Amino acid sequence: MTKVAIITGASRGIGAATATLLANHGHSICINYFSQADKANKLVETIRQSGGNAIAVKADLGNEEDIIRLFEVVDQLLGPVTTLVNNAGTNGGISTVENITLDCLQSVFATNVYGTFLASREALKRMKQHDGGTIINISSEAARFGGNNLSHYAASKAAINTFTIGFAREAAAYKVRVNTVSPGVIDTDMHTSASPERIAALMKSLPTGRMGSAREVAELVCWLASDEASYISGAIIPVTGAR
Ligand code: NAP
Repeated sequence: MTKVAIITGASRGIGAATATLLANHGHSICINYFSQADKANKLVETIRQSGGNAIAVKADLGNEEDIIRLFEVVDQLLGPVTTLVNNAGTNGGISTVENITLDCLQSVFATNVYGTFLASREALKRMKQHDGGTIINISSEAARFGGNNLSHYAASKAAINTFTIGFAREAAAYKVRVNTVSPGVIDTDMHTSASPERIAALMKSLPTGRMGSAREVAELVCWLASDEASYISGAIIPVTGAR
């Protein structure tokens, strides 16, 4: 059966690195993006030039109709999904709890939590009819230590961790494995808006003296999607460089 992977938020960063590696491992790829069509289309071209099969589909993971359409487009153009990577995420911007707004909470939880639930629902519907599959969520170590003025983001990632445990038990009956990769500090655009002082403090906290790369996270995602990980489900695995 054709291996078909949907990677949400794959126009750049960890999602783009994961899409590239899964394409190298023989998956047909759907690169979901939200705003950066140019980057998503460029990645499609790169994968095709290396002999892979890829499409780009715009969908807001905070919107149920968009998510349903995303899976329907993939059904039509690539076939039913066999691997879903719930990667799309936003931190909503740095804010104390004292200053948090309902808009910020709604947007962070809509993309990070509801998006993960709803995409997983759509994937499970298809996987249970086609001999199973794998779902990999991208959480964050912020779930463990609470984030630094990012409690809203940290709480949304903690929800993904708990979701992983419950959903893995439910999905096991259908030969669907569900795992979570929990990155520490990874060198992506997510940090570009941080102040130099915040970046300096972050760097000081890293035992290896460097951030991880998107590729180093993608390697674990790829392994979890492979048959080599056939008895791994319900796991939450950190990629932190000992932080
Ligand atoms: P990034 O470089 O900022 O990329 C974010 C990706 O998510 C982009 O492709 C973006 O699409 C997409 N996205 C954002 N909102 C979306 C929405 N509503 N619908 C669909 N796509 C949306 O981030 P990253 O660092 O690679 O992060 C990827 C995942 O890893 C996130 O879940 C993040 O929380 C998690 N993580 C990152 C770090 C880190 O240090 N970087 C650490 C722990 C966990 P467009 O470009 O098209 O807008």
